[in-house]
Order: sequence, then structure tokens, then C-alpha cells
Amino acid sequence: MSDEQIEVGEPIVITDPDSDRYHTFGYISWWQQETVRDATVLVVGAGALGNEVLKNLALMGIGNLLIADFDTIEDSNLSRSVLFREGDRGERKVDVVARRVKELNPDVKVKAWHGDINFEMGLGVFRHVDAIIGCLDNREARLSINRFAYSVNRPWVDGAIQELMGIVRLFWPWQGACYECTLTDADYQIINLRYSCPLLARDNILQGKVPTTPTSASIVAAFQTQEALKLIHGMEVEPGKAMLINGLTNDVYKTEYPVKEGCMSHSTLEPIVELPQVTAVTTTLAELLAIAQEKLGPETVIEFDGEIITHMTCPDCGASEPVFKKMARLYESEYRCPDCNGRREMSLTHRISGDEDFLDRTLAEMDIPPLGIVRANNGREQIYLELTGDKETFLTFS
Ligand SMILES: [Zn+2]
Ligand SMILES: [Zn+2]
Repeated sequence: MSDEQIEVGEPIVITDPDSDRYHTFGYISWWQQETVRDATVLVVGAGALGNEVLKNLALMGIGNLLIADFDTIEDSNLSRSVLFREGDRGERKVDVVARRVKELNPDVKVKAWHGDINFEMGLGVFRHVDAIIGCLDNREARLSINRFAYSVNRPWVDGAIQELMGIVRLFWPWQGACYECTLTDADYQIINLRYSCPLLARDNILQGKVPTTPTSASIVAAFQTQEALKLIHGMEVEPGKAMLINGLTNDVYKTEYPVKEGCMSHSTLEPIVELPQVTAVTTTLAELLAIAQEKLGPETVIEFDGEIITHMTCPDCGASEPVFKKMARLYESEYRCPDCNGRREMSLTHRISGDEDFLDRTLAEMDIPPLGIVRANNGREQIYLELTGDKETFLTFS
């Protein structure tokens, strides 16, 4: 992120229109093509909004695009997704948009990441980008991004569309309301309804289909992209406010959300300690614990945010299987014993103190994602350890 303030009256450099694709941007007084080229933007969601946002970012020459999505293309996407083609059915959205972005502008470097941001992308990833753009279609994913952004104190731009309506909002931790501040009791009810059976939540998220048009996607994505552009340039933005666009009546207006007392999202991990030698795949629990104890004392433990299943044991036939996976992402079918189909019991852990018999497992083998952040706690103080060594391999763009 550039901290440079754009000086009024800075000389405008006009390039050759025959050889410079960014020629016309040179006439915009505050536009810094080098700043745009050096920027890294995370786009979460490669659907209708994501297609439009990525198209815009590519045309503007944003240097590095990290695109995250877990979905594949179906024909119904073709009516709203400028980067998809008839023959793309069944392909991963991230792979297709990455390819098309390169066709639009070979200058742009891309990383396509197919997965679930809730469990498979480390929080540290959000720390190391200049702007986060949420191109999402459900409250759960927005809530996740919001909490991640708060955790690492990064701004994010949300967009939402329904029929001819749209909302564009920028959230910046500790500056005005956040996304969760805007949630009503009815929103929470919808979220809780879907999460009443956590094992089915992942499937249900896919079902919350909202009717949208390519026009509302274009309009909202264009504003989202512009907000990200302003963030990259260090220009003034309006966190905690929303722009509402009503395409039926052609009303466009802004509104400011009140900050909610006791909002669950309002917590930032501090201090975060970067560990350039530590990676998910090469560092063991024992090694990370040693680092934590070196920093905070011998009584220090490592703590994970959610429960990790270490073993599943069948009370009927006695079969026990090592699992080492976050409980939140276990599928219903995995509860059953493969031998006798009995309901298995789980052994859980969320704290590593040094007495465990699995300390030689790597962090990846404990279901900790690359660039993950884990807490070290000695009972009096806590610090957050980032698997910074993953930056080199995870945040690579081509
Ligand atoms: Zn809030
Ligand atoms: Zn069994």
C-alpha cells in the first residue's frame, strides 16, 4: 500500500498512445500507473461481480491479482459473467477468469486460488494485500471477510446486487461501522438458520441464489473497483458509509451506518509477529511451540481458534483413526465408522502445551493453512504468530 499522498500539481507524464496501453490514464492528475502496477488486490468471488471487478482491474493494469473462489462454471453464469464463454462449463471459475484476465492484459500477474477462504486461506494473506474486494452473494461470506479484515486491520470493499438494485460499501476497521454493524436481527436469523446444522452449512451456502442482472453487476463492480483504486492511491474514502443504487427509480444516495456497541467483529490481533522461517508445510508443532516459548516464556501454549479433531474412535468396533482436521469442516458422512457404520466419537484439541504425542506433525498436518496466524498465550499476555515463510510461495503471481 502506498502511503504517498498525491500532490496537487504533480507533473502529468503523457506517453505515446501507439505504444502505451495506459496512455489515457496519464491525463488523470492523480493517477499513478506505477502505484497501480505495484498493487496487490485480493478479489474474493469470481461470479457476476467478480467477473466485472476483475475485468476493470485488468484494464487498469493492477499489478497482482489474487482471485479466490470455490465454485465451477455452469451455463446459468453465462448471462452475467463477461469473462466466461460457452465452452467453459464445469471448469473452475478461478482458472477461467485468470486466463481471460491475462488475455485482456498480459501485464497483469495473477494467482488463481480455488478453495474455501474460511478454512484454507491463512489470515496472513489478508494482511499482505493492498485492498480486498468482496464479490460475494451471501451474508456468511461477507461476515467472514469482515472478521478477517478486522483481525488484520485491512480495508475491504463490499458489493451487493439484487435485480436492478445495488449497494457499494467500504469498511475499514476502527473507522466507522463495519459490515457486522449493519446486520439486523433478521440477517442473523438467516445466518443462524443456515448454520443450525453446521455440517450442512457449506452446501446450503451454495443455494442462496439471488436474481441479478449483468447491468447491476457492471454498475456495482465499477464502483467497487473505483473504491479499491482510491485505496491503492491512498486517497480519501468513506468507511462505514454505503452507496445505494436503485436502477428502477434511478435514485443513487449515500447513507451512514451507526457503529454497533459490542459488535462481534471489532477485534484486531495484536501484536502480530512475523516468522519468515516458518511455513505450514515445513514447521512442526514442536518447533512453533519452541518459538512461542522463547518469546513468552516456558509456560506458553499455542492456541487455535476452533477445535481440531485429532482422532475419531468408534465405540462399537473400537476402530480409531487419526484425523487432524478442523471440526468445522468435517462432513456429516465422516462421522460414520467406515468399518461398521457406527457413530464415531471425536477427540478434540485447541491448545498445544508440549505434552501432546503428535508434536512432530507439521502445521499443515494440523490443518493450519499457509500464512495462517496462531495465538501464543502464557496466561498473562498473548501474541499472534504468522507463518510468514509461506508468503514467498503463496503470494506468487504469474
Ligand atoms: Zn461492527
Ligand atoms: Zn466401527
